[in-house]
Amino acid sequence: MNSEQVLKLFLDSNALLEGHFILSSGRHSSSYLQCALALQFPADAARFGQAIADRFVNEGIKTVASPAIGGLVIGYAVAAALNVRFIWTERENGSMTLRRGFIVKNGERILVVEDVITTGGSTRECISALESASARVIGAASIIDRSAGSADVGVPRISLASLSVPSYDPENCPDCAQGIPAIKPGSRVKPFSKSN
Ligand SMILES: [Zn+2]
Repeated sequence: MNSEQVLKLFLDSNALLEGHFILSSGRHSSSYLQCALALQFPADAARFGQAIADRFVNEGIKTVASPAIGGLVIGYAVAAALNVRFIWTERENGSMTLRRGFIVKNGERILVVEDVITTGGSTRECISALESASARVIGAASIIDRSAGSADVGVPRISLASLSVPSYDPENCPDCAQGIPAIKPGSRVKPFSKSN
């Protein structure tokens, strides 16, 4: 699965929208990413999972781990493709933790998988929780890299596709300057309509 095929699947499932959007940060952008939509169908998730697994097939991975919630579906799909176990970390009182009785062995070789990496923050926190439990995180992966390759998570990292998505303060937004109405993704306004 090459990056064009990945992005086509994102566009086809409306996981990647083009238009004029208000992001959750309040900034404006001409594109919007909602990975969950690209992972709705198990067959699609399995294709992404296989594509990531192919890159780590000779690394002796024993476990795939993901930060919840974003990494759960793709992490499970990668683990299924590698035929290894899948665990996750989640926030407890604000810090990323292994819960639910998940145990890692000393030196266990783990691959950390996310849906999208923007700053690498959740992946780094997941890695740190696993390393605190004495596991050995040998790599990290995401379907989409929104950092243009710049996110450093402290271990070798791959992604299936890279997206550079500029965002603007509303006062500097080129679409606002043209009078194009901005929409909040998830609202009832049709995502591709710029006129209502
Ligand atoms: Zn705008």
